[in-house]
Amino acid sequence: MYDLIIRDGSVVLEDEIVKADIGIKKGKIAEIAQGVSIPAKKYVNAKGKYVLPGMIDIHVHFDEPSRDHWEGFDYGSASMAAGGCTTYFDMPLNGVPPTVTEAALWEKKKLADQKSVVDYGLWGGLVPGNKEELAKMAHSGVIGFKAFMSEAGSEFDFSDDLTLYEGMKEIAKLNKVLALHAERNDLIQKLEQAKQKQKQTAIKDYLETRPVVAEVNAVKQALEYGEETGCPLHFVHISSYEAVQLITEAKKNGMNVTLETCPHYLLFTEEDFEEIGVTAKCAPPLRSRSQKEKLWACIQSEEVDMISSDHSPCPIELKTAHQNDLFKVWGGISGGQYSLQAMISEGAITRGISLSHISKLVSTNPAKRFGLYPKKGSILLGSDADLVIVDLDQTEKVTKEGMVFKHKHSIYEGTVFNSVILTTINRGTIVYNKEEGVFPLHKGQMVNGEYVKL
Ligand code: ZN
Repeated sequence: MYDLIIRDGSVVLEDEIVKADIGIKKGKIAEIAQGVSIPAKKYVNAKGKYVLPGMIDIHVHFDEPSRDHWEGFDYGSASMAAGGCTTYFDMPLNGVPPTVTEAALWEKKKLADQKSVVDYGLWGGLVPGNKEELAKMAHSGVIGFKAFMSEAGSEFDFSDDLTLYEGMKEIAKLNKVLALHAERNDLIQKLEQAKQKQKQTAIKDYLETRPVVAEVNAVKQALEYGEETGCPLHFVHISSYEAVQLITEAKKNGMNVTLETCPHYLLFTEEDFEEIGVTAKCAPPLRSRSQKEKLWACIQSEEVDMISSDHSPCPIELKTAHQNDLFKVWGGISGGQYSLQAMISEGAITRGISLSHISKLVSTNPAKRFGLYPKKGSILLGSDADLVIVDLDQTEKVTKEGMVFKHKHSIYEGTVFNSVILTTINRGTIVYNKEEGVFPLHKGQMVNGEYVKL
């Protein structure tokens, strides 16, 4: 007897969508067939709905340890479950201490094991002075390493050239991926100082301090270092067409490099930032309408490898206390709960991108890049039963009441999605359904794996 059967859904496989039942046993997918062979203890009816692999959101920031008034693994992972995400990778900042030593990694793992309701992975940080810790963190199971090329605005130091160069050499030896926040620090800082001096601190001024060229220039430098050191690279939250082109060129030349962009760069623009205000502040910032359209074209042409939320929550006061000084406003978008819904609604329904392609961006490619495939990232026999059931015939407006986040603010507030996340299943256990909400008793497990070239 199966533990669970998901009946009559349209099952999104890597290259096609099939009408089938999915039989689940001991947390794994045991059968995919029209009319499975044996009965189950429990059934979920998915008739008229789509069943996709759960999202693997490789870029979120939960604020543990120490920042108890921010958002921790409890609320954070619950919001992931509500958004159809079954595995997330937590970044090495914004908890205190940041995850830049083996001891800090274990401290964080303990908290995540206690509180996370879905599976998770942990990033380690590369910062000046922690080279000796990298191998130890790799052996303790980090999914990869993250470095900032510009100031991170928290207790996480950005990497100077030497740190980047030496760090890449070490990470190449460890056979891990280095993820980079790519913006040129010197340029951004000087532009900002000039604005501050003139007391020009509006949204428009903030935007002018983080131009596309700051991203492109940093990507170029990192690619040069990556080529020299042989370090596998991954560029986080790429916001411009020009940066995508540089990375695509490097891939064509044989470099081991991938990139992600985020739904907020695909749904919102600088004009929206002016209208929405402080909850839309992030770095790199939202871009022009033409950049947004060009990023969609890069998705269509498969130059974008994956989509992450870059969910970065904060107490609302950190957004609202300095409405008139954008440089003092916390930069980060609360979006984890809405990333899959955004990609399905805008990408699949509005723009006609296939659900298999969306699923590849949010699940299969992340799993492959970070060594979790085929255990995760696809609906295959023997894979973890990490699934999400989505209704494409209903619409839903984002409201504060519907937010599972600890701090109820988001760039998506007021957005109407033309799809609804109905049910989320992590290793065979229902962790969320629309009627009852999140089931917090399920315990997520840490994932880790060896790096795989896409
Ligand atoms: Zn981030």
